[in-house]
Amino acid sequence: MMSNFDLIVIGGGPGGYVAAIKGAQLGLNTAIIEKDRFGGTCLNRGCIPTKAMLHAADLYREILEGGRFGIHAEKVTVNYGEVLDYKQETIDKLVSGVEQLLKANGVTMLKGTGTLLADRQVKVTFAEPAEDGATESYYDAEHIILAGGSYPAKLPVEGMELQGVLTSDGLFALKEIPESLTIIGGGVIGVEFAEVFSALGCKVTILEALPKLLANLDKEISQNLKMILKKRGVDIHTGASLAKIEKDPAGGLICHYTEKDKDQSISSQYVLCAVGRKPNAAGLFLDPEEFADIAENSAALTTKHLEAAAQTAHALGITMERGFIETDIYGQTGAPGIYAIGDIVKGIQLAHVASAQGITAAEKIAGHTPNVDLAIVPSCIYTSPEIASVGITEEDAKASATPVKVGKYITSANGKSLISKEERGFVKIIAHADTGEILGAQMMCARATDMIGEMATAIANKLTPSQLLKGMRAHPTYNEAVGEALEELEGGAIHMA
Ligand code: FAD
Repeated sequence: MMSNFDLIVIGGGPGGYVAAIKGAQLGLNTAIIEKDRFGGTCLNRGCIPTKAMLHAADLYREILEGGRFGIHAEKVTVNYGEVLDYKQETIDKLVSGVEQLLKANGVTMLKGTGTLLADRQVKVTFAEPAEDGATESYYDAEHIILAGGSYPAKLPVEGMELQGVLTSDGLFALKEIPESLTIIGGGVIGVEFAEVFSALGCKVTILEALPKLLANLDKEISQNLKMILKKRGVDIHTGASLAKIEKDPAGGLICHYTEKDKDQSISSQYVLCAVGRKPNAAGLFLDPEEFADIAENSAALTTKHLEAAAQTAHALGITMERGFIETDIYGQTGAPGIYAIGDIVKGIQLAHVASAQGITAAEKIAGHTPNVDLAIVPSCIYTSPEIASVGITEEDAKASATPVKVGKYITSANGKSLISKEERGFVKIIAHADTGEILGAQMMCARATDMIGEMATAIANKLTPSQLLKGMRAHPTYNEAVGEALEELEGGAIHMA
């Protein structure tokens, strides 16, 4: 059976489903293919479950520390099963919301694995046989958007295959709070899980090979976070390179690592490997019947699969490098009419990046001029206090010899921060020394992840502090700290000695 669409999207994560909705809104007859659950990694195994668990863990910690506000609770306990239920309910509501949105916008939803063939044809191997018993079908479209996402990477280190060595997917599946957990990798995913499980009473150790946590972020943020997590009982080793993992005869696992040229080891019940994610592009090009193992489990990908996928992609006119698909700024690959977005393309692997790329590709396909500036990407870490960053840091400015001035405000005199006893944070805004244009911002304070949006808007529109100060900020709000950092750039913050 052949069915023609204007647009077929393969992959229903935050890149794919947003692209499909935008395409349909712009008048394209659109279909979306998803082999698992709509919402992708973000809703099912990423952004949403981690934030739900962080919310529960932080709430528990706040209740235990409630004495600071005169609130004393006794016999406060964690029922981890109920925490997992709350997390799953949140996920399910959002996933069903995505399906309703796709339906409401007239997008055809196909449940199965999509394989890209020549001439913009797509084979769909259905997850369940169709009503007429068909297990597969073929469709074609003027335009195709590939949005296959990514899967957790593992290090090529002995012992990675041992039972108890988990990726983020496996950690979500645990039904118990681990007694102890060694986290390999002090990036965003590593530190967020460290916060969750240390708050819930697990003994957490982080091994990070680079000299600091959150290596790409402002130095001050990394240092502060290290201090805060240590205070909460997390054992942190930076410059610590994992050598191998082996079974502990006493139970659990032993991680052997090198730190400052010394061989060290740590024993724990579980090990979390949080060392980044690999593009899931191969599954888009290889027929699931021939490569049943990868259809079941992306982690089963071998060099043989990747090479076969790259060759198939190449024959279609698509270039892949280390598994990532190469595109232009609109997401267009080397093959006419075929676009790629989200975690399968080179760049920052974040849900809002995938969505913005999806909107851009759909707009381009529909003949509109894409609007969003894909170069300005806010990064957020949902620890307590929250961390957010966009644009350049002071260190970046120094490295590129860009003349800048820095407006920094410590939140100790911000009313809202004092009320919630979260006054040990800061907002730092970086502006060009000559033009005044805002170039970057870093925040480590309550609600930083919400407040960074204003800075992204400012950078994207080349605004200056005085333009941003035209609008008032309500009192009392955390957002007043942003106003104070802007005032600091203009000559002096009001509430700062
Ligand atoms: P995905 O979300 O991975 O979706 C791809 C979809 O395509 C999947 O549903 C998959 O089943 C489907 N698919 C793949 N191949 C096929 C095929 N051949 N046929 C049919 N369907 C197919 N990002 C943030 O911005 N903020 C956060 O706070 C955040 N937290 C995270 C926490 C964790 C623990 C993890 C793991 C990730 C987190 N991320 C976060 C990253 C974010 O989840 C990803 O960047 C985002 O989901 C990428 O979107 P995507 O649409 O490109 O791919």
